[in-house]
Amino acid sequence: MAVLPVYVEPHPALRKIAKTVVGGVTAKLQELMDDMLETMQYHKGVGIAITQVFDDSQIVELPPRIFLLQIPESLGGDNKPMYFVNPVITTSGKLVPYEEGCLSVPAVSVGEKVPQGEKGIAKGVVMRPEKVSVSYLDYDGNPQVMEAENCLLAVALQHEMKHLDGGLFIDLLSDTERARVMKEHREYIKNSNPADLKMYVLADQQEKVEPVSSLAKSGNPAP
Ligand SMILES: [Zn+2]
Repeated sequence: MAVLPVYVEPHPALRKIAKTVVGGVTAKLQELMDDMLETMQYHKGVGIAITQVFDDSQIVELPPRIFLLQIPESLGGDNKPMYFVNPVITTSGKLVPYEEGCLSVPAVSVGEKVPQGEKGIAKGVVMRPEKVSVSYLDYDGNPQVMEAENCLLAVALQHEMKHLDGGLFIDLLSDTERARVMKEHREYIKNSNPADLKMYVLADQQEKVEPVSSLAKSGNPAP
């Protein structure tokens, strides 16, 4: 397993649309999911989608439709990793607000100093339907259905689905909220050391960039 570098907004990789997996869940896909889990845990996230980590610099290929969730008990989950391959989602009910953040939009409040090796994320309120039903293949390739209503799981399923279609939660923020979040994000990137971040930051965001491949191979999850 390896910690993969996470693409950071506005990297174009985040805007790719993931393609449906054909031929079931292979050992290669499971290996990718293992890496995604390690990456999500390293960054202390509750979810991660393939578009945030898929390195296609060696092969011209679209990312396969995969995301993971792991919701800790403190946030109402059971802390078990959940793997979603080819998820298909339906939503219903009224729109409810939830304060969301994303590993691809690391940030701290403007003016705050970034502690070395630590990450914060920008948060903004998004309105989404309260009820979700998702059908998908699990880690072993078995078909599953999951339902969630008015909880972090319901929000996270929709957040990760949007990643697979090249979207980010910031797309759903009001203009004022988005401006605030992006200001905090830019401030963070400007004041961070990419080597500490294990994130793939664009050259024009910050001059010092470590290539994805060398980060992926370093494999040391210790901060
Ligand atoms: Zn996200």
